[in-house]
Amino acid sequence: MKKDFNYYNTLLVQSVGSKVGPIAPTITTSAAFGYEDAQTAEGIFSGEVNAPLYARVGNPTNAKLEAVVAKMEGGFAAIATSSGMGALSMVTTAFLKSGDEVLCIGGFFGGTYTLITETMKRFAVTNSFCEVDDMQHIEKKLKTGVKMVLMESVGNPSLRLPDIKMIADMCKVYETLLLVDNTATPLLVRPLELGADIVVHSSTKNISGHSAALGGVAVFRAVKEKEEKLLNEKYADIHKIVKKIGQKAFIPICKKRAIRDMGMTANAFGSFLTLLGLETLALRVERINHSVVEVAKILHKALPEGVDVNHPSLPSSRDHKMYRRDFINGCGPLLTMDCGTKARAFTLLNKLKLVTQTANIGDNRTLALHMTSTIYSDFDEATRTFLGVTEGMIRVSIGLEDPTMITEDFLQAAAAL
Ligand SMILES: *Cc1c(COP(=O)(O)O)cnc(C)c1O
Repeated sequence: MKKDFNYYNTLLVQSVGSKVGPIAPTITTSAAFGYEDAQTAEGIFSGEVNAPLYARVGNPTNAKLEAVVAKMEGGFAAIATSSGMGALSMVTTAFLKSGDEVLCIGGFFGGTYTLITETMKRFAVTNSFCEVDDMQHIEKKLKTGVKMVLMESVGNPSLRLPDIKMIADMCKVYETLLLVDNTATPLLVRPLELGADIVVHSSTKNISGHSAALGGVAVFRAVKEKEEKLLNEKYADIHKIVKKIGQKAFIPICKKRAIRDMGMTANAFGSFLTLLGLETLALRVERINHSVVEVAKILHKALPEGVDVNHPSLPSSRDHKMYRRDFINGCGPLLTMDCGTKARAFTLLNKLKLVTQTANIGDNRTLALHMTSTIYSDFDEATRTFLGVTEGMIRVSIGLEDPTMITEDFLQAAAAL
């Protein structure tokens, strides 16, 4: 079946809702769960009996969310976490140990960048970074045995678009785990189907949509019987779990090696709110991705000299060709505007009436934020340049409002420049 917005509108409402009993998801807030008898307890702990153990390692409301997101991403299983950073730290700490290297491709969300370059580095996990299209560097690094490749489906805020399939194919050849952050492009890009091993989302953003629930989720493919990259010698420390559990091994790897000991678990109420967001995700994604192209086109033409709009749908964008090839339904809610200087960016921002200034993205409302004075204020010049962040840059996340009203707001604000 063609996986278009219609398909997802059906899939999501049907999977979030139930036909019998309460039709909306139920919220189970219990921290502990009674076991029927000692034998059942033993089975639950060994993983042979599928029932809740203790809320840190799983809860029925989270399980519902995990099942729906796994289906949506074409994955085998998922784990809901406390936030998007919770999902990223769960996966990185579950698979990496001191002495390992991560290859980071493209620009990154600020928190992901510091997770790798500061926190993981303190635990002696090394890293290197390269541009999305530097295939030579990617291959060279894969040959040296890096343990994990990390990238975002769309660079935030660089808006660079990677060739996910080509990178996934290379990771297959060199048996290296590929982790893709798909926060900006749920339903628009399905990295697992392109060959990625793990997908993470900050569900706080598009999936929830209402800025009402912090959350994250990691989705995994099934472990294969043959040609399984996890059986490569570099993953020797998890071979015991892979061999014992088989198909579903990604789950105990993450639960036993991260969640159990660090507790980046989702809470039931947050997962309930995220499930409500999921019901309308396809409607919102279709609307917003249509609007962002409209808004970019008009602003690109109508904004005064000295304000440059970047969005991959514009022929002037560096990745326009990739957009036309792989991202034709959209590449998420973001566009950027370079006003030249910080002062001009502040002037424009402070004249906006409809747009909300905040650090979030993927919200129902249109949001805007100056980059170097906020999220990237701790970053040096060279890092900002690499991440595609400029002094006059405003990041805009388009919402559900009338696109004409969004454009008019920016145009009236720009009149003050
Ligand atoms: C926001 C964001 C995160 C972090 O998610 P939180 O839910 O805020 O922890 C990770 N990756 C991307 C691309 C994001 O936009």
